[in-house]
Amino acid sequence: MLDIDKILRNEETLDPEDWDKMRHLGHKMMDDMFDYFQSLRNRPVWKSPDEVMKAALNKPVPAQPEDIDKTYSDFLTTVLPFNKGNVHPRFWAWVEGNGTPFGMLADMLASGLNPNLGVANTSAVYVEYQVINWMKEILGFDPDASGLLVSGGSVANLVGIAVARNSLAEFKIRENGLTGVSGKLTIYCSTETHSSVQKAVELLGIGSNALRKIPVNKDFQISIDTLKEKISEDKKSGFIPFCIVGNAGTVNTGAIDPLNELADICAEENLWLHVDGAFGAFTYLVDELKFMVKGMERADSLAFDLHKWMYMPYESGCTLIRNQEKHKNAFVLTPEYLIKFEEGLAAGPEPLSNYGIQLSRGFRALKVWMSLKEHGINKYKKLIRQNIAQAQYLERLISGKTELEILAPVPLNIVCYRFVQPGISNEALDKLNKDILIQLQLRGIAAPSHTIINGKFALRAANVNHRSRKEDFETLVNETVKIGYELLKR
Ligand SMILES: *Cc1c(COP(=O)(O)O)cnc(C)c1O
Repeated sequence: MLDIDKILRNEETLDPEDWDKMRHLGHKMMDDMFDYFQSLRNRPVWKSPDEVMKAALNKPVPAQPEDIDKTYSDFLTTVLPFNKGNVHPRFWAWVEGNGTPFGMLADMLASGLNPNLGVANTSAVYVEYQVINWMKEILGFDPDASGLLVSGGSVANLVGIAVARNSLAEFKIRENGLTGVSGKLTIYCSTETHSSVQKAVELLGIGSNALRKIPVNKDFQISIDTLKEKISEDKKSGFIPFCIVGNAGTVNTGAIDPLNELADICAEENLWLHVDGAFGAFTYLVDELKFMVKGMERADSLAFDLHKWMYMPYESGCTLIRNQEKHKNAFVLTPEYLIKFEEGLAAGPEPLSNYGIQLSRGFRALKVWMSLKEHGINKYKKLIRQNIAQAQYLERLISGKTELEILAPVPLNIVCYRFVQPGISNEALDKLNKDILIQLQLRGIAAPSHTIINGKFALRAANVNHRSRKEDFETLVNETVKIGYELLKR
């Protein structure tokens, strides 16, 4: 039994006892973060987690309060020095944006206001709608399209493909599950497509065998002829093709599928066109290069990330859906406790939960809104153009070195290359290049990542970095060669 009177005589809260102390610490944290931003270039790109750090993060849960200054000092010694490094000017691993100081501040405000954007008549919901409208505007979608902010490209792909699947009206998949179409639905993409698409297809009950991975040409773009043959073969065999996933920027090489041709096929065959434009969608912002993603504006759904090539803090992704009604029909569900009113807290625009699987949702829209206001879209256009020019400069530097070899065309912002020496087998080169990569990272010099291109181990630099300068790419090239020779001598 609870001793109610006693408990209520000693009520607790999580607010600070000493507000001044908290305020003071908050200011110090802010100062430290600005110092961190300003000193990034002098820091190693990355530092491997050490045993002290691991031990510090392997403790039982504290039962009693700890001083906040002590907790912050633990952050400074345990967390900060082993940060991933994607904030750094020489980080080009995977595809990871830097974030920005103002974005950080916006996240602090979002976390402070802490609105849940579920069903609610509140400014935050309008901010998210504003941001979605801006995305439609800059990426060539009609004003009556719909959209949703999500955690990232993976969920953005899941949402797009879920709407594609649930839009197969005659099968009533929301009601019947896949019973009516079990083992029959097929979906198409290139072999270069991101793994998150397969995960989405698996999660949606379609199964990875139904994801037809079509081979690519020498530019790593989907083979249109093979795609057409496969669709027609599948139809003859009684399958139900329902969707093509096109790439606007593949993760390995930045290849862009011929989206206009994919849109034509979808129109002829009555298929849904989903475009994974995780980073490459923003090629659309660069006037001289827009033609490369021609057809993207015809997609039924488009997935992209704001934490990659829009440099926003994690997590921020987005799906746009051409047909607002289909989008809503894929997810809408209104139990009695979520019924909307005309006035009051339960009024407001269409609940965002009707466009996706999240009910509770955080205020990630705030950093997007504030960042776009801080810089204006023209600044982003300049930066994306700059990143592509830098990648082409890196390609030029690599081509100028006899010790280095470019492994894939550089249509966009991704450069794949390796160290080579005459008379060394491919197998030995794979090992050598892996060791070069690890040394670049361990020494904190630069952080490219890796992939396999046509069976060869590749160092891979993906440039969505607003802090990189020309010299940083020169460092990467010179150090790759230097470490290559150093390792050869051993
Ligand atoms: C990064 C990426 C994804 C996945 O996005 P997340 O934000 O990591 O979930 C999907 N497709 C492509 C092409 C990507 O580069």
